[in-house]
Amino acid sequence: MPGYDTNALALAGGVGGAKLALGLAKILDPDQLTVVVNTGDDEIFYGLHVSPDLDTVMYTLAGIANPETGWGITGETFNMLERLTAYGEDTWFGLGDKDLATHIRRTNLLNNGESLSEVTSKLAAALGVEHAIVPMTDDSFRTIVDTEIGSLAFQDYFVKHRSEPKATAIRFDTNGGARPSPGFGRALSESKIIVFCPSNPYLSVAPILEVTGIRERIAGFPGKRIAVSPIIGGAAIKGPAAKLMAEFGVEPSCVDVAKQYIGLCDAFVIDNIDADRANEIDSLGMDVLVCNTIMTSKEDKMALARKVLDFALR
Ligand code: GDP
Repeated sequence: MPGYDTNALALAGGVGGAKLALGLAKILDPDQLTVVVNTGDDEIFYGLHVSPDLDTVMYTLAGIANPETGWGITGETFNMLERLTAYGEDTWFGLGDKDLATHIRRTNLLNNGESLSEVTSKLAAALGVEHAIVPMTDDSFRTIVDTEIGSLAFQDYFVKHRSEPKATAIRFDTNGGARPSPGFGRALSESKIIVFCPSNPYLSVAPILEVTGIRERIAGFPGKRIAVSPIIGGAAIKGPAAKLMAEFGVEPSCVDVAKQYIGLCDAFVIDNIDADRANEIDSLGMDVLVCNTIMTSKEDKMALARKVLDFALR
């Protein structure tokens, strides 16, 4: 297996992000990859700090993610949640028994004054993950979805209301500005490639770009920047990305995702199914790679990671 002489920074949300992050982690050494993860979805549940996207990436790289749900740990039991429900607690946010340990440990360490970066690094190390997984920011950052039924905190919208209410806007409550985490800042300085994983452009990538100074640093990044479309054949594989695009009056298509990354990406990867849209992306000023982007097996993830790096470095 040929090695790569490069350092990559991957920007990721949960499910789509974690898939490509795993592919990259399988072909790059631990000192060659930093995965920066959205924390706009973080929320306190049952008194515990839950970081859904960080956990999805962490569990995926640790090989213990539950592929059926897209969240949590494989082979879970839900005894705690059942007991909590029996006590009368409103338990719309599911947490498995093993997953619970992650949130207890995270909350304890945060309460001891450690940063989310430090805590994440400890949790990942304990799970045997060698590649760096870092939160986009250690500061407070909340994604809010304005909808026809009112403003909803992200998990309220996504889990409790199953992304059903029509969205009118997405806002970020950063309490006056969230600074990039130290690992994010370092990776931006040291990496040769930025990979935008196929994550939700509104709910996973936009929050990362909203961290103070990040949009400008990516716009001025001296290396290669490449994004993979999460929209394939006009639909999302999972989640509300295509639905949100339609609600915001843009065509749910790979082309309209690419438009959001003008000035931030040099290259854009679309699926074979969308080959007939390549010219439109080319006319946005981006190089286009057309290939299979549906990642089912570990081999699919590694193959796409390899194509992305080869295309960026060619
Ligand atoms: P979330 O925070 O869990 O919603 O995860 P992300 O934002 O990282 O990923 C959601 C996006 O991943 C959706 O828009 C999906 O279409 C996309 N996605 C999931 N699996 C795949 C895949 O195998 N290939 C591609 N290209 N996109 C995917």
